[in-house]
Amino acid sequence: MPMPGSLIGSVVRPADVFELGIDPRDIAFDVDSVFAQTMTLFVKLVNDRFGPGHLKYEDITSYYLADCLNLDAEVILELITLLIDKPIEVNLACYPGAPEVINQISRQTDILFVTARTTAEPIRDWIQHVLPEVDPAKIEVIATANHELKPGILLDHGKKYFVDDRLETCALLEQHGITPIIFDQPWNRADVRFLRVGNWPEIASLLDLTPGPKPLGSTLPKK
Ligand SMILES: [Mg+2]
Repeated sequence: MPMPGSLIGSVVRPADVFELGIDPRDIAFDVDSVFAQTMTLFVKLVNDRFGPGHLKYEDITSYYLADCLNLDAEVILELITLLIDKPIEVNLACYPGAPEVINQISRQTDILFVTARTTAEPIRDWIQHVLPEVDPAKIEVIATANHELKPGILLDHGKKYFVDDRLETCALLEQHGITPIIFDQPWNRADVRFLRVGNWPEIASLLDLTPGPKPLGSTLPKK
């Protein structure tokens, strides 16, 4: 099992990434459990209802909650629906450092978030709410409603890298020539192949955030 934040990759060798830097124009981001601390809030909502310590974050060992949690399917659905429909009202938070990194990227290029949520509007409003310093016109949020549609959307937008927490999505991206960067979570630690990051400062360290035009060939060759 890789340590959180360890960089273990075969698609892109970490040394190459750190030497060259990813052009921020080439990267896009998942929202839930990458930018948004969605499951942290889920755990809080469960414990508010059933008592402190009822659920621990590390108990979430599968992307599919019903597979790993001893909770009624109706309760899971009710709380997830709340997180999906009312992220501002339930005080969904972003990961530490995420707004600062997105802010920095936005000075160079537009930001693309691609989520498998079914509707973009509530999470788009929330993203704008937590990124008050970023011009909303510079943020695009696409809801695919289907994990399988992410690679096509990313290719259409010319993206070469995507940060996601779902292993199956990362494998699918790789098949389409997009380099997945997995955001470390208890439910994705079975993988030891993909480039893995544990926090937003680590994401920032992968990027070339120096202002100005990038010289030709400054980004990594697409595998
Ligand atoms: Mg996610």
